[in-house]
Amino acid sequence: MTKSKPGLSSALTVLRGVGPALARTLERLGLYRVEDLLFLLPLRYEDRTSFVPIGAARPGMRCLVSGTVLLAETVYRGRRSLLVRISDGSGQITLRFFHFSRQQQAQFQNGATVTCFGDVRPGPVGIEMVHPEYRVLRGEQEPEVDDALTPIYPLTEGVQQGRLRNLVAQALEMMRREAPEELLPAQVLQELELPSLEAALHYLHKPPPDVDLASIENGKHPCQLRLSFEELLAHYMSLRNLRDLASREPATPLVDRKGLRGLFVSSLPFKLTGAQERVVAEIAADLALAHPMMRLIQGDVGSGKTVVAAAACMQAVSAGSQAAIMAPTELLAEQHWASFSAWFDALGIELAWLSGSQKQAARRASLEAIQAGRASVIVGTHALFQEGVEFANLALVVIDEQHRFGVHQRVALRNKGLANRHSDARKHPHQLVMTATPIPRTLAMAAYADLDTSIIDELPPGRQPVTTIALPDTRRAEVVERVRSACASGQQAYWVCPLIDESELLDYQAAEASFAMLTDALDPLRVGLVHGRIKNARREEIMRAFKAGDIDVLVATTVIEVGVDVPNAGLMIIENSERMGLSQLHQLRGRVGRGAQQSHCVMLYKQPLGQLARNRLAVLRETNDGFLVAQRDLELRGPGELLGTKQTGLPEYRIANLVRDAELMPVVQKSAEIIQRQFKPAAQQIVRRWLGDAHQYGKV
Ligand code: ADP
Ligand code: MG
Repeated sequence: MTKSKPGLSSALTVLRGVGPALARTLERLGLYRVEDLLFLLPLRYEDRTSFVPIGAARPGMRCLVSGTVLLAETVYRGRRSLLVRISDGSGQITLRFFHFSRQQQAQFQNGATVTCFGDVRPGPVGIEMVHPEYRVLRGEQEPEVDDALTPIYPLTEGVQQGRLRNLVAQALEMMRREAPEELLPAQVLQELELPSLEAALHYLHKPPPDVDLASIENGKHPCQLRLSFEELLAHYMSLRNLRDLASREPATPLVDRKGLRGLFVSSLPFKLTGAQERVVAEIAADLALAHPMMRLIQGDVGSGKTVVAAAACMQAVSAGSQAAIMAPTELLAEQHWASFSAWFDALGIELAWLSGSQKQAARRASLEAIQAGRASVIVGTHALFQEGVEFANLALVVIDEQHRFGVHQRVALRNKGLANRHSDARKHPHQLVMTATPIPRTLAMAAYADLDTSIIDELPPGRQPVTTIALPDTRRAEVVERVRSACASGQQAYWVCPLIDESELLDYQAAEASFAMLTDALDPLRVGLVHGRIKNARREEIMRAFKAGDIDVLVATTVIEVGVDVPNAGLMIIENSERMGLSQLHQLRGRVGRGAQQSHCVMLYKQPLGQLARNRLAVLRETNDGFLVAQRDLELRGPGELLGTKQTGLPEYRIANLVRDAELMPVVQKSAEIIQRQFKPAAQQIVRRWLGDAHQYGKV
């Protein structure tokens, strides 16, 4: 037992009414210490700070009224109910109760004063309130109003609103005796004209009657901005910290000693685009340093990130080290394997393959080649980072489609599981992550603060933008005809049946059904089918046939999102497009438009289409620019959808909202520099306050 006085940092059990059981419930809600309650902001507020004249109360309002009882009666129309009619001189309102005790009934004597709070709705005779919160005043009592708005907290299972309100009130009381430490330097607060932490918290839990509720609802009140700002700052500084720590670690400098990178680039059948050349140079410079590179490539689908990754791997091999490239799915890893084998075999460089579904014997052979250092480049999935994988001298890790991995995974990969057997184990590999989900700059600042970024903002020459249309699926027959005529003129087509359900079973059934329908309707065209349930070898065979032009129409689940590269496929049909994220649709669409001919994408949707879905599909019709799609996706759906929060590990925020608060990011970035340079201890405390000790990225 500690003797010190309970304060904001004490456990919640110091509060009246909190025993071990309630403390455990609160813990499940992420509330551990008294201070945590202060950061649980109300969802909305109720105004009980003044009486609304009954004559001014309108249906739809939720308000406080007061009046004297004119009449109280029990009626039996359909259902037994107690009706109490009150008046304040300006008008009358009926209070309606379906459940009531005799005692309650007796309270409402004619002439008694009643105050009540509730939703106003139209009734058979004028306006009424059903089951309002009410008080019947005793003789000399004056009706009272609150001096601040009533906060409504997010519904939390197992804790009632009243209880939560009471606990927060106790925490606020404690805050009056001991203010939470103001961690933002005065200089920053002044410059941004933000209120102090204490003032902001107090205001948001107990807003005065004259508060600008609209600005709070929009999340733009200075008190909210004050808190969002500090939270974003905490996350940002934690990532920067991580980056600073990592950038001081030793790494093997990778110099293109044998000239393999140059040789590779000059032997390609095409010339690198200006953007590719620039990014290859940025990477080359990073790799030559004795500290680990941490670089992100953002590039639209089809912008040619793979060759850039290969050039980086060539440089590692050229310096006598190993490089690994990891993809989020087997199919994508296989695609890399195909490109990489062609490129590296030509230069006599050995590759190794590692994946989860690999047979034991093959895996053992790979592990042996990796450990002995015979394999210079390793291609695979997560399996690369599993127990038992020992590299001889891994110096570069490339992670493709990083949006499917998260910050935490990225960090874990950097620190763990990369055991180099022979060389200096303290050396960290250089890291290159690639994403085809470009995200708006402000969001990237928050999501990728631990990385340097390179952008490939140019497509290889000769690409024509894909024309995109949306059609109701009642017009499927027409679309089938369109597929037929496209294929008759020598083109190929994709027919995509996206994952509708999380269930793999349904996913594959939908694809099977479309396959049967198309095989029948398109006879004699050759239709192929791929989905996650089809064995790897068979799937590869089908893909290969499609690539070779031996299949006209490929029916597929979203596995092809990151799949094959078939320039002759100029038409894509996407079923159930209304259910998919914009960025995902854009990725899918990127599978066509890779050849010289004009390509088309038809998005089929189920009617009726809501306004939001309509707007979303319109975005894809209007632009082919991945950055723009991302920006609109962000505005329409939020970053969770865009980045797939659950998979991405974009941090969950308590108060900040990346979409709403994105415009704070440039200021956050600037302030973080000042604070980390001049106020180091405060920087650490800010991170600890918002991320907790265990969750600091820097400590993973
Ligand atoms: P992504 O950025 O989506 O991963 P890929 O690396 O798969 O794109 O490249 C898409 C296609 O473009 C591949 O067929 C690749 O060979 C081709 N490609 C890449 N760079 C160029 C270039 N500079 N000129 C012409 N074709 C290119
Ligand atoms: Mg790619």
